[in-house]
Amino acid sequence: MNELLKNLTEAVGVSGAEQEVRRLIRDLIVAHVDEWRVDALGNLIATKKGTGASDLRVLVDAHMDEVGLMITEIGSDGMLKFAPVGGFDSHALLGKVVQIGARKITGIIGAKPIHLLERGQYDSVVDIDTMRIDIGAKGKDGNGKVKVGDRATFVTQYEELGKTAVAKAFDNRAGCAALIELLRAEPYPFDLIAAFTVQEEVGLRGAEVVAYNVHPDAALILECTPAYDLPNEDDVSPNVALGKGPAIYVMDAGTIQDPRLVAHITRTAVAHNIPYQIRKPGGGGTNTAAIQRTGAGIPAATIAIPGRYAHTPTMMIHLDDYANVVKLAEAVLRSLTAEVLRRD
Ligand SMILES: [Zn+2]
Repeated sequence: MNELLKNLTEAVGVSGAEQEVRRLIRDLIVAHVDEWRVDALGNLIATKKGTGASDLRVLVDAHMDEVGLMITEIGSDGMLKFAPVGGFDSHALLGKVVQIGARKITGIIGAKPIHLLERGQYDSVVDIDTMRIDIGAKGKDGNGKVKVGDRATFVTQYEELGKTAVAKAFDNRAGCAALIELLRAEPYPFDLIAAFTVQEEVGLRGAEVVAYNVHPDAALILECTPAYDLPNEDDVSPNVALGKGPAIYVMDAGTIQDPRLVAHITRTAVAHNIPYQIRKPGGGGTNTAAIQRTGAGIPAATIAIPGRYAHTPTMMIHLDDYANVVKLAEAVLRSLTAEVLRRD
């Protein structure tokens, strides 16, 4: 079992409340970096000194926050109203078990039993505003265990099913795990700055201040990108598919990725015999959008692990894709030179 993926995905870190996962990551990297700090927003920024062969400064980003819920109101019946933190499809919520606040109080997102549904209710989506979390409380104080403003996240145990793994928050703990593995490797030709960033899911907020603060010569963003490869619909090719290798971004809703870096990534994959797939250009976005537009601009590109069922309580990744993202990102960094970034 991959203990790194297990520990990272089972840790809690809904956007803006990343303490638990940040402390876990700090403890996992501290022996492999030369310095680390936590900035004003809560980003964990670490430097791994290079061999001195190159004076480039390279940032590798992986956001450590996960989508979740925030308690907005406690009713006189003890039921908790909530709002999404990050993008949610309400289809994914009913009947799910959540853990709330630092004390990890268990709650259930209530659902009307199918036996009692009336005609028409089968076909309609239940609005998040009408859902409640039930913690078995009786009154407005939530049994004194829960406060307005507390975060809630899903309770999902990490499991491996053959070559795949299922867990919550692979978006983006899979990227965090890959970045930790990069820090554990031998020094790179240049100083590598690793940023485990906060608040990506609510608008790339952590990465914005990291990019401003660090202003590197180039940035690599490690992500877990939604794979829609099942069910098979006629004449619909998947955007990315599990098991087919790292997903390389070219364009999404917020960026056109740096073409020099995209070319360098695909060349490196071919040279090292690492499978890869071009993510179907289109919607979505990553921290690349915030990073590449900072200051006078930063060349940036994204490598992602495909993940099914993103932004639901249970995601699935292929462990070969994860291993290949680590391999590819390491090879990309080791062969990154000023020449790659030259432009006439
Ligand atoms: Zn993400």
